[in-house]
Amino acid sequence: MIFDTHSHCYWDTILPRIDEIIENMREKWIMKAVQIGCDIESSHKAIALAHRFPDIFYATVGFHPEEAQDFIFDSDILDTFEKMIQENRDSVKAIWETGFDFHYIDGTDGGKRKADLENLSEKAKSQIENQKKWWIEQWKLAHKYDLPLVIHTRDAGEATLEFMKENHINRCVMHCFSEDIDFAQELLEFSDEIYFSFSGILTYKSAQKIQETAKNISLHRILIETDAPFLAPQAVRGTVNEPANTRYTLDKLIELRSESAQEIEKQVYENSLRFYGLVN
Ligand SMILES: [Zn+2]
Repeated sequence: MIFDTHSHCYWDTILPRIDEIIENMREKWIMKAVQIGCDIESSHKAIALAHRFPDIFYATVGFHPEEAQDFIFDSDILDTFEKMIQENRDSVKAIWETGFDFHYIDGTDGGKRKADLENLSEKAKSQIENQKKWWIEQWKLAHKYDLPLVIHTRDAGEATLEFMKENHINRCVMHCFSEDIDFAQELLEFSDEIYFSFSGILTYKSAQKIQETAKNISLHRILIETDAPFLAPQAVRGTVNEPANTRYTLDKLIELRSESAQEIEKQVYENSLRFYGLVN
């Protein structure tokens, strides 16, 4: 049994085919998939899908750091998320996604080069401040409702580590993990409630450092995801990704690790249930 811990099936390239998508999941033994909200509108859509397919789809609500960077913290938006949680306790299982994304901040020429963190412009500094404020407020909200937090980090590894330790952010998953093993080890030493989720990127030839992490960290800390409709695994690269393709990522994980296929499949599924609070 397989659990896709992160997808966006409300996306217009998937939603019109949703019955076929569910059928494809069944065929590949993908039992559950969590639908991730990135802002108010998509969080509503994620919840609607969870209501339409109970016990198969669940939802998360939250504000993505790439959106948050140019958005001064607004408590009305946070209140809207809080209301969505209160009214949908059965389907909302985490706050997603928050964290740091320095890929597009001022000075990167729209993501063409890495930000020079030693010499940030005033605008870049305020974009980072916005991301920090959204992150901390969403962490407080997660805490209040006993929900885990889903963290996105891109081009911001060191800042992410520092911020998580400083603010004791310990019940979370590092989504679409793309850092190296040292980063993972440092977080594992800091908390035993942190999970690492591997996407279809794990199957790419260029992903050696990610594969090394997936091979060596504790199996108890691993989740898998598609990030559908994005990041289709190598075997189906270039197509619209869907939860059924979580199977390819699991197969890669099995190829990399020393435990038996059954043990890996079972443990990763149990990790997913535990992380999202779906076990008693
Ligand atoms: Zn995503």
